Amino acid sequence: MTGRRGFVGPELTEALYGSHPTAALCPSGETLTLNLTLAFVPAIDARPGRRGFGGSELTEALYVEKKIATIHNVFAIIRGSEEPDRYVLLGNHRDAWTYGAVDPNSGTAVLLDIARRYALMMRQGWQPQRTIVLCSWDADEFGMIGSTEWVEQNLLNLGSKVVAYLNVDCAVQGPGFFAGATPQLDNLLIEVAKKVQDPDSESMTIYDNWMITNKVINIQRLSGVDYDFAPLLQHAGVPSVDLYYGRDFPVYHTAFDSYNWMTNHGDPLFQRHVAVAGVWGLLALHLADDPILPFNYVLHRTIMELHKSPTQLGERLLDFAILRPYLQHPAISHDPATVTSKGLQSILAGFELIPRVRSLQLELKSRIEEFEKLDKFHMEQMEEEVTARNAHTSTESW
Ligand SMILES: [Zn+2]
Repeated sequence: MTGRRGFVGPELTEALYGSHPTAALCPSGETLTLNLTLAFVPAIDARPGRRGFGGSELTEALYVEKKIATIHNVFAIIRGSEEPDRYVLLGNHRDAWTYGAVDPNSGTAVLLDIARRYALMMRQGWQPQRTIVLCSWDADEFGMIGSTEWVEQNLLNLGSKVVAYLNVDCAVQGPGFFAGATPQLDNLLIEVAKKVQDPDSESMTIYDNWMITNKVINIQRLSGVDYDFAPLLQHAGVPSVDLYYGRDFPVYHTAFDSYNWMTNHGDPLFQRHVAVAGVWGLLALHLADDPILPFNYVLHRTIMELHKSPTQLGERLLDFAILRPYLQHPAISHDPATVTSKGLQSILAGFELIPRVRSLQLELKSRIEEFEKLDKFHMEQMEEEVTARNAHTSTESW
Protein backbone atom coordinates (compact mmCIF):
# COMPACT_ATOMS: atom_id res chain seq x y z
CA MET A 1 0.00 0.00 0.00
CA THR A 2 1.67 3.24 -1.00
CA GLY A 3 -0.31 6.07 0.50
CA ARG A 4 -3.37 7.14 2.41
CA ARG A 5 -6.33 8.68 0.68
CA GLY A 6 -6.89 12.18 1.96
CA PHE A 7 -8.08 15.60 1.02
CA VAL A 8 -5.53 17.89 -0.59
CA GLY A 9 -6.48 21.56 -0.42
CA PRO A 10 -6.40 23.70 -3.56
CA GLU A 11 -3.29 25.59 -2.36
CA LEU A 12 -1.33 22.38 -1.94
CA THR A 13 -2.50 21.06 -5.31
CA GLU A 14 -1.47 24.27 -7.06
CA ALA A 15 1.88 24.35 -5.26
CA LEU A 16 2.67 20.78 -6.18
CA TYR A 17 1.87 21.41 -9.82
CA GLY A 18 4.14 24.46 -9.91
CA SER A 19 1.63 27.23 -10.59
CA HIS A 20 1.59 28.57 -7.03
CA PRO A 21 3.75 31.67 -6.52
CA THR A 22 5.25 30.40 -3.25
CA ALA A 23 6.46 27.04 -4.64
CA ALA A 24 10.19 27.20 -5.32
CA LEU A 25 12.03 24.45 -7.14
CA CYS A 26 15.75 24.45 -6.39
CA PRO A 27 18.12 24.47 -9.40
CA SER A 28 19.37 20.99 -8.51
CA GLY A 29 15.82 19.77 -9.04
CA GLU A 30 16.05 17.76 -5.87
CA THR A 31 14.54 19.98 -3.19
CA LEU A 32 11.10 21.44 -3.28
CA THR A 33 10.24 24.08 -0.68
CA LEU A 34 6.62 24.93 -0.19
CA ASN A 35 5.11 27.75 1.86
CA LEU A 36 1.50 26.92 2.20
CA THR A 37 -1.66 27.87 3.93
CA LEU A 38 -3.47 24.65 4.73
CA ALA A 39 -7.20 24.88 5.08
CA PHE A 40 -9.28 22.15 6.61
CA VAL A 41 -12.22 21.90 4.31
CA PRO A 42 -15.26 19.76 5.12
CA ALA A 43 -15.81 17.08 2.44
CA ILE A 44 -19.01 18.64 1.11
CA ASP A 45 -17.23 21.98 0.60
CA ALA A 46 -14.25 20.44 -1.11
CA ARG A 47 -14.25 22.75 -4.12
CA PRO A 48 -11.77 25.46 -5.01
CA GLY A 49 -12.72 28.77 -3.46
CA ARG A 50 -14.66 27.38 -0.51
CA ARG A 51 -13.03 27.11 2.87
CA GLY A 52 -14.14 25.83 6.22
CA PHE A 53 -12.76 26.86 9.55
CA GLY A 54 -9.36 28.52 9.90
CA GLY A 55 -5.97 27.63 8.50
CA SER A 56 -2.33 27.50 9.53
CA GLU A 57 1.04 28.30 7.95
CA LEU A 58 3.32 25.43 7.01
CA THR A 59 6.75 25.34 5.43
CA GLU A 60 7.70 21.95 4.09
CA ALA A 61 10.91 20.82 2.40
CA LEU A 62 11.12 17.59 0.44
CA TYR A 63 14.58 16.10 -0.12
CA VAL A 64 14.39 13.58 -2.92
CA GLU A 65 17.28 11.30 -3.84
CA LYS A 66 17.42 10.71 -7.60
CA LYS A 67 18.96 7.39 -8.62
CA ILE A 68 18.34 4.36 -10.80
CA ALA A 69 18.08 1.00 -9.03
CA THR A 70 17.41 -2.58 -10.11
CA ILE A 71 14.34 -4.25 -8.67
CA HIS A 72 13.53 -7.96 -8.45
CA ASN A 73 10.15 -9.66 -8.63
CA VAL A 74 10.40 -13.24 -7.35
CA PHE A 75 8.08 -16.02 -8.55
CA ALA A 76 7.49 -19.61 -7.45
CA ILE A 77 5.53 -21.75 -9.89
CA ILE A 78 3.62 -24.98 -9.30
CA ARG A 79 2.77 -26.32 -12.74
CA GLY A 80 -0.82 -27.44 -13.29
CA SER A 81 -1.48 -31.00 -14.47
CA GLU A 82 -4.63 -30.43 -16.58
CA GLU A 83 -4.53 -26.78 -17.63
CA PRO A 84 -0.92 -25.64 -17.20
CA ASP A 85 -1.60 -22.45 -19.19
CA ARG A 86 -4.26 -21.22 -16.74
CA TYR A 87 -2.74 -19.37 -13.81
CA VAL A 88 -3.90 -18.64 -10.27
CA LEU A 89 -1.72 -15.85 -8.86
CA LEU A 90 -1.08 -15.11 -5.18
CA GLY A 91 0.77 -11.83 -4.74
CA ASN A 92 2.33 -9.70 -2.01
CA HIS A 93 5.02 -7.01 -2.13
CA ARG A 94 8.37 -7.36 -0.39
CA ASP A 95 9.78 -3.82 -0.11
CA ALA A 96 8.99 -1.75 3.01
CA TRP A 97 9.25 1.88 4.08
CA THR A 98 11.04 1.00 7.30
CA TYR A 99 10.97 -2.32 9.17
CA GLY A 100 7.63 -3.22 7.61
CA ALA A 101 6.50 -5.84 10.13
CA VAL A 102 2.92 -5.20 9.04
CA ASP A 103 3.42 -3.61 5.61
CA PRO A 104 4.30 -5.91 3.88
CA ASN A 105 6.09 -8.55 5.98
CA SER A 106 2.95 -9.89 7.65
CA GLY A 107 1.75 -10.70 4.12
CA THR A 108 5.14 -12.07 3.09
CA ALA A 109 5.24 -14.35 6.16
CA VAL A 110 1.80 -15.70 5.21
CA LEU A 111 2.83 -16.21 1.56
CA LEU A 112 5.86 -18.19 2.72
CA ASP A 113 3.67 -20.31 5.00
CA ILE A 114 1.37 -21.08 2.07
CA ALA A 115 4.46 -22.13 0.06
CA ARG A 116 5.42 -24.43 2.95
CA ARG A 117 1.93 -25.96 3.10
CA TYR A 118 1.76 -26.51 -0.68
CA ALA A 119 5.25 -28.07 -0.58
CA LEU A 120 4.04 -30.56 2.08
CA MET A 121 1.06 -31.44 -0.13
CA MET A 122 3.33 -31.87 -3.17
CA ARG A 123 5.52 -34.28 -1.22
CA GLN A 124 2.37 -36.37 -0.72
CA GLY A 125 1.78 -36.44 -4.47
CA TRP A 126 -0.56 -33.46 -4.99
CA GLN A 127 -0.35 -31.36 -8.13
CA PRO A 128 -2.90 -28.63 -8.91
CA GLN A 129 -4.98 -28.88 -12.09
CA ARG A 130 -4.16 -25.28 -13.02
CA THR A 131 -0.82 -23.56 -12.50
CA ILE A 132 -0.30 -21.69 -9.21
CA VAL A 133 2.16 -18.77 -9.18
CA LEU A 134 3.35 -17.18 -5.92
CA CYS A 135 4.47 -13.60 -6.68
CA SER A 136 6.70 -11.48 -4.45
CA TRP A 137 6.64 -7.95 -5.88
CA ASP A 138 9.41 -5.41 -5.51
CA ALA A 139 9.06 -1.58 -5.49
CA ASP A 140 5.39 -1.45 -4.50
CA GLU A 141 5.99 1.53 -2.25
CA PHE A 142 7.36 3.51 -5.21
CA GLY A 143 4.02 3.21 -7.02
CA MET A 144 3.41 -0.53 -7.61
CA ILE A 145 6.37 -0.53 -10.00
CA GLY A 146 7.23 -4.25 -9.70
CA SER A 147 3.73 -5.56 -10.38
CA THR A 148 2.85 -2.86 -12.94
CA GLU A 149 5.95 -3.41 -15.08
CA TRP A 150 5.37 -7.18 -15.06
CA VAL A 151 1.72 -6.75 -16.04
CA GLU A 152 2.59 -4.30 -18.82
CA GLN A 153 5.24 -6.69 -20.14
CA ASN A 154 2.84 -9.69 -20.16
CA LEU A 155 -0.49 -7.96 -20.65
CA LEU A 156 -1.96 -10.20 -23.38
CA ASN A 157 -0.96 -13.46 -21.71
CA LEU A 158 -2.19 -12.35 -18.30
CA GLY A 159 -5.48 -10.93 -19.57
CA SER A 160 -6.36 -14.17 -21.35
CA LYS A 161 -4.86 -16.81 -19.06
CA VAL A 162 -5.01 -15.68 -15.42
CA VAL A 163 -7.98 -17.21 -13.61
CA ALA A 164 -7.72 -14.85 -10.62
CA TYR A 165 -5.27 -12.70 -8.68
CA LEU A 166 -5.32 -12.99 -4.88
CA ASN A 167 -3.56 -10.08 -3.16
CA VAL A 168 -2.46 -9.74 0.45
CA ASP A 169 -0.46 -6.66 1.43
CA CYS A 170 -0.72 -5.88 5.16
CA ALA A 171 -2.00 -9.32 6.18
CA VAL A 172 -2.40 -8.40 9.85
CA GLN A 173 -2.89 -4.89 11.26
CA GLY A 174 -5.05 -5.88 14.25
CA PRO A 175 -8.37 -7.69 14.92
CA GLY A 176 -11.29 -8.19 12.51
CA PHE A 177 -11.40 -9.85 9.09
CA PHE A 178 -11.75 -7.64 6.02
CA ALA A 179 -11.96 -8.62 2.38
CA GLY A 180 -12.46 -7.00 -0.98
CA ALA A 181 -13.26 -8.78 -4.23
CA THR A 182 -14.61 -8.43 -7.70
CA PRO A 183 -18.21 -9.63 -7.28
CA GLN A 184 -17.98 -12.97 -9.14
CA LEU A 185 -15.69 -14.15 -6.31
CA ASP A 186 -17.94 -13.11 -3.38
CA ASN A 187 -19.51 -16.55 -3.00
CA LEU A 188 -16.21 -18.41 -3.01
CA LEU A 189 -14.83 -15.99 -0.41
CA ILE A 190 -17.84 -16.58 1.86
CA GLU A 191 -17.65 -20.37 1.45
CA VAL A 192 -13.93 -20.38 2.27
CA ALA A 193 -14.47 -18.13 5.33
CA LYS A 194 -16.87 -20.81 6.63
CA LYS A 195 -14.06 -23.37 6.55
CA VAL A 196 -11.35 -21.51 8.46
CA GLN A 197 -11.12 -21.35 12.27
CA ASP A 198 -11.53 -17.81 13.66
CA PRO A 199 -8.24 -16.73 15.28
CA ASP A 200 -9.91 -14.78 18.11
CA SER A 201 -12.70 -17.11 19.24
CA GLU A 202 -12.26 -20.83 19.52
CA SER A 203 -15.74 -22.06 18.70
CA MET A 204 -16.28 -19.91 15.61
CA THR A 205 -15.27 -19.81 11.99
CA ILE A 206 -14.04 -16.58 10.38
CA TYR A 207 -17.45 -16.33 8.71
CA ASP A 208 -19.31 -16.48 12.08
CA ASN A 209 -17.21 -13.71 13.60
CA TRP A 210 -17.35 -11.63 10.40
CA MET A 211 -21.16 -11.74 10.59
CA ILE A 212 -21.23 -10.83 14.29
CA THR A 213 -18.81 -7.91 13.91
CA ASN A 214 -20.34 -6.29 10.84
CA LYS A 215 -23.95 -7.58 11.08
CA VAL A 216 -23.55 -8.31 7.36
CA ILE A 217 -20.94 -9.86 5.13
CA ASN A 218 -19.46 -6.66 3.84
CA ILE A 219 -17.16 -7.39 0.90
CA GLN A 220 -15.52 -4.21 -0.34
CA ARG A 221 -15.00 -3.38 -4.00
CA LEU A 222 -11.49 -3.02 -5.35
CA SER A 223 -11.46 0.57 -6.57
CA GLY A 224 -8.11 1.51 -4.95
CA VAL A 225 -5.01 2.07 -7.04
CA ASP A 226 -2.54 1.85 -4.16
CA TYR A 227 -2.29 -1.95 -4.04
CA ASP A 228 -0.71 -4.51 -6.36
CA PHE A 229 -4.12 -5.78 -7.47
CA ALA A 230 -4.58 -2.50 -9.37
CA PRO A 231 -2.50 -3.38 -12.47
CA LEU A 232 -3.85 -6.94 -12.59
CA LEU A 233 -7.47 -5.87 -12.19
CA GLN A 234 -7.50 -2.52 -13.94
CA HIS A 235 -5.02 -3.14 -16.79
CA ALA A 236 -5.46 -6.87 -17.43
CA GLY A 237 -9.09 -7.23 -16.24
CA VAL A 238 -8.33 -10.16 -13.95
CA PRO A 239 -10.89 -11.15 -11.24
CA SER A 240 -9.22 -10.22 -7.95
CA VAL A 241 -9.40 -10.54 -4.17
CA ASP A 242 -7.71 -8.58 -1.36
CA LEU A 243 -7.57 -9.83 2.25
CA TYR A 244 -6.43 -8.40 5.61
CA TYR A 245 -6.96 -8.56 9.36
CA GLY A 246 -7.51 -5.21 11.12
CA ARG A 247 -7.43 -1.80 9.47
CA ASP A 248 -5.99 1.70 9.89
CA PHE A 249 -3.14 0.64 12.17
CA PRO A 250 -1.57 3.71 13.77
CA VAL A 251 2.10 3.00 12.96
CA TYR A 252 1.54 2.69 9.20
CA HIS A 253 4.67 3.67 7.21
CA THR A 254 6.55 4.72 10.34
CA ALA A 255 9.62 3.37 12.11
CA PHE A 256 7.24 1.79 14.65
CA ASP A 257 5.95 -0.72 12.08
CA SER A 258 8.21 -3.25 13.80
CA TYR A 259 8.26 -6.81 15.11
CA ASN A 260 7.89 -5.30 18.57
CA TRP A 261 4.62 -3.57 17.58
CA MET A 262 3.34 -6.80 16.02
CA THR A 263 4.08 -8.94 19.09
CA ASN A 264 2.66 -6.34 21.49
CA HIS A 265 -0.36 -5.10 19.54
CA GLY A 266 -1.01 -6.40 16.04
CA ASP A 267 -1.00 -10.17 16.54
CA PRO A 268 0.79 -11.27 19.75
CA LEU A 269 0.14 -14.99 19.13
CA PHE A 270 0.39 -14.81 15.31
CA GLN A 271 -2.89 -16.72 15.05
CA ARG A 272 -4.34 -14.05 12.73
CA HIS A 273 -1.44 -14.68 10.35
CA VAL A 274 -2.40 -18.37 10.37
CA ALA A 275 -6.03 -17.47 9.62
CA VAL A 276 -5.07 -15.36 6.59
CA ALA A 277 -2.92 -18.26 5.35
CA GLY A 278 -5.99 -20.51 5.65
CA VAL A 279 -8.30 -18.23 3.65
CA TRP A 280 -5.70 -17.20 1.06
CA GLY A 281 -4.38 -20.75 0.52
CA LEU A 282 -7.87 -22.31 0.29
CA LEU A 283 -9.11 -19.67 -2.17
CA ALA A 284 -6.19 -20.51 -4.45
CA LEU A 285 -6.77 -24.27 -4.06
CA HIS A 286 -10.41 -23.94 -5.17
CA LEU A 287 -9.48 -21.74 -8.12
CA ALA A 288 -6.68 -24.11 -9.16
CA ASP A 289 -8.42 -27.43 -8.53
CA ASP A 290 -12.24 -27.09 -8.86
CA PRO A 291 -13.26 -28.74 -12.16
CA ILE A 292 -15.62 -25.80 -12.87
CA LEU A 293 -14.32 -22.36 -11.90
CA PRO A 294 -16.17 -21.13 -8.77
CA PHE A 295 -17.34 -17.80 -10.24
CA ASN A 296 -20.85 -16.40 -9.70
CA TYR A 297 -21.72 -14.06 -12.56
CA VAL A 298 -25.43 -13.81 -11.64
CA LEU A 299 -24.42 -12.09 -8.41
CA HIS A 300 -21.81 -10.07 -10.31
CA ARG A 301 -24.49 -8.67 -12.61
CA THR A 302 -26.74 -7.73 -9.66
CA ILE A 303 -23.94 -5.89 -7.90
CA MET A 304 -23.11 -4.02 -11.10
CA GLU A 305 -26.76 -2.96 -11.33
CA LEU A 306 -26.35 -1.15 -8.02
CA HIS A 307 -24.36 1.44 -9.89
CA LYS A 308 -27.34 2.29 -12.06
CA SER A 309 -30.51 4.07 -10.90
CA PRO A 310 -32.65 2.58 -8.12
CA THR A 311 -35.47 2.00 -10.62
CA GLN A 312 -33.21 -0.06 -12.84
CA LEU A 313 -32.03 -1.91 -9.78
CA GLY A 314 -35.69 -2.58 -8.94
CA GLU A 315 -36.27 -4.07 -12.39
CA ARG A 316 -33.26 -6.32 -12.00
CA LEU A 317 -34.18 -7.37 -8.47
CA LEU A 318 -37.56 -8.52 -9.75
CA ASP A 319 -35.92 -11.27 -11.74
CA PHE A 320 -33.17 -11.91 -9.20
CA ALA A 321 -33.83 -15.54 -8.32
CA ILE A 322 -33.46 -15.40 -4.55
CA LEU A 323 -36.00 -12.59 -4.27
CA ARG A 324 -38.74 -14.28 -6.29
CA PRO A 325 -40.44 -16.13 -3.40
CA TYR A 326 -40.64 -12.91 -1.38
CA LEU A 327 -42.22 -10.71 -4.02
CA GLN A 328 -45.72 -11.43 -2.72
CA HIS A 329 -45.25 -8.51 -0.30
CA PRO A 330 -48.47 -6.37 -0.45
CA ALA A 331 -46.43 -3.18 -0.89
CA ILE A 332 -44.93 -4.47 -4.10
CA SER A 333 -46.39 -4.44 -7.55
CA HIS A 334 -45.03 -6.99 -10.00
CA ASP A 335 -44.92 -4.41 -12.75
CA PRO A 336 -41.30 -3.18 -12.88
CA ALA A 337 -42.44 0.24 -14.08
CA THR A 338 -44.22 0.89 -10.78
CA VAL A 339 -41.36 -0.20 -8.53
CA THR A 340 -40.48 3.07 -6.87
CA SER A 341 -37.54 3.45 -4.57
CA LYS A 342 -40.05 3.35 -1.68
CA GLY A 343 -41.39 0.04 -2.94
CA LEU A 344 -37.86 -1.19 -3.35
CA GLN A 345 -37.02 -0.26 0.20
CA SER A 346 -39.96 -2.24 1.51
CA ILE A 347 -38.87 -5.25 -0.55
CA LEU A 348 -35.45 -4.95 0.94
CA ALA A 349 -36.78 -4.33 4.46
CA GLY A 350 -38.16 -7.88 4.38
CA PHE A 351 -34.70 -9.34 3.92
CA GLU A 352 -32.84 -8.22 7.00
CA LEU A 353 -31.65 -11.75 7.56
CA ILE A 354 -30.25 -12.38 4.10
CA PRO A 355 -26.75 -10.94 4.34
CA ARG A 356 -26.17 -10.15 0.67
CA VAL A 357 -29.45 -8.34 0.27
CA ARG A 358 -29.00 -6.60 3.59
CA SER A 359 -25.73 -5.15 2.37
CA LEU A 360 -27.38 -4.06 -0.92
CA GLN A 361 -29.98 -2.37 1.25
CA LEU A 362 -27.34 -0.53 3.27
CA GLU A 363 -25.53 0.56 0.13
CA LEU A 364 -28.74 1.84 -1.41
CA LYS A 365 -29.69 3.63 1.83
CA SER A 366 -26.36 5.44 1.97
CA ARG A 367 -26.71 6.46 -1.69
CA ILE A 368 -30.15 7.91 -1.00
CA GLU A 369 -28.79 9.79 2.04
CA GLU A 370 -25.92 11.11 -0.05
CA PHE A 371 -28.34 12.42 -2.68
CA GLU A 372 -30.47 14.05 0.00
CA LYS A 373 -27.42 15.72 1.53
CA LEU A 374 -26.35 17.07 -1.84
CA ASP A 375 -29.89 18.28 -2.54
CA LYS A 376 -29.94 20.11 0.78
CA PHE A 377 -26.57 21.66 0.02
CA HIS A 378 -27.70 22.89 -3.41
CA MET A 379 -30.93 24.30 -1.97
CA GLU A 380 -28.99 26.26 0.67
CA GLN A 381 -26.64 27.56 -1.98
CA MET A 382 -29.55 28.71 -4.13
CA GLU A 383 -31.14 30.44 -1.14
CA GLU A 384 -27.84 32.21 -0.41
CA GLU A 385 -27.61 33.38 -4.01
CA VAL A 386 -31.21 34.61 -4.02
CA THR A 387 -30.65 36.49 -0.75
CA ALA A 388 -27.44 38.04 -2.12
CA ARG A 389 -29.17 39.05 -5.36
CA ASN A 390 -32.08 40.59 -3.44
CA ALA A 391 -29.66 42.52 -1.23
CA HIS A 392 -27.86 43.77 -4.32
CA THR A 393 -31.12 44.76 -6.02
CA SER A 394 -32.34 46.64 -2.96
CA THR A 395 -28.99 48.53 -2.77
CA GLU A 396 -29.37 49.51 -6.42
CA SER A 397 -32.87 50.76 -5.84
CA TRP A 398 -31.46 53.16 -3.25
ZN1 LIG B 1 2.08 -2.41 1.37
